Amino acid sequence: MALDSPAGSLTSPFDLPDDEGYVWLKGNLHSHTTNSDGKPSPQERVDGYAQRGYDYLCMSDHYTITRIDSVDCPENLTLIQGAELHPDNPFGGQRHHLLCLNLQEDIDSTRMPPQHVIDAVNEQGGAVFLAHPHWSSVNIHRDILPLRGLAGIEVFNTICRCAARGESSVHWDDWMEQENRLYPGLANDDAHALDADEYDTCQGWTWARVKQRSGQAIVDALMTGASYGSTGPVIHDIQLRRVDDEEGQRVIEASIRCSEAQRIFAVADNWGNEYREKSTTFEAATFTLRPGARWTRFEIVGPDGRKAWSNPFDLTKIERA
Ligand SMILES: [Zn+2]
Ligand SMILES: [Zn+2]
Repeated sequence: MALDSPAGSLTSPFDLPDDEGYVWLKGNLHSHTTNSDGKPSPQERVDGYAQRGYDYLCMSDHYTITRIDSVDCPENLTLIQGAELHPDNPFGGQRHHLLCLNLQEDIDSTRMPPQHVIDAVNEQGGAVFLAHPHWSSVNIHRDILPLRGLAGIEVFNTICRCAARGESSVHWDDWMEQENRLYPGLANDDAHALDADEYDTCQGWTWARVKQRSGQAIVDALMTGASYGSTGPVIHDIQLRRVDDEEGQRVIEASIRCSEAQRIFAVADNWGNEYREKSTTFEAATFTLRPGARWTRFEIVGPDGRKAWSNPFDLTKIERA
């Protein structure tokens, strides 16, 4: 059965060349202000991320849009208008946490079933990402499979790490396995504190590969997988090619360039494998994936344990050279 994705198929950001005008932009898509339960005002939130060199930010207050024209937007920062919406969960789990990007008009999510909220956001031209499913005790089969129209998943969330449930990679893999569909992932702060608290700001971010510094271009890149999340490591390149073995079995070789790493995990639909070097770190790796894998995503682990998460690659589409 062919793999698909919400965007039809995913685009590797590493196949979008500099000479066509593509640049990397760093951003956080999940933050709160005094318009919900965040400590800083919207202006303080925006200024904080701008001062830390971020290229884009979404203030995603609970239940309500913090309008991007309500703040003075610092130069070089692109604001994406959004909200975190919380429809009831009729399937048995906790109330949903839906990170809604490119939202134009408020939606009263407290009185709507989750599917109606997702549909309403999509009708506005927005995108709905499943926020921090590990922290929310989401069961993909019970709570998410009944829903249609989600754009992707938050694989890392800084404030949820403070509760020891920051990483949702197993939910990501489970969801893709059950739907036979590749979803893009985000790494976000979900910042509630002030920068000065040094608690949940500027520790998880998503790099988007775009031609234009606009909210629409950034959200389009996130929805099509032209991005990757990180808490530290930088991924410079990932290239995949077929190197079938003598019996004609489909084998994929991965070549990766990154900032200093201690190991790379190739997480696949059929288990996965690890690349590392004896007693040394590395910045480039070439290794073969488990034969027969249909999709793979990569986790790069830096020397200090911090991670980057690539989006999944559809291996069934790689033709023999
Ligand atoms: Zn939440
Ligand atoms: Zn939140």
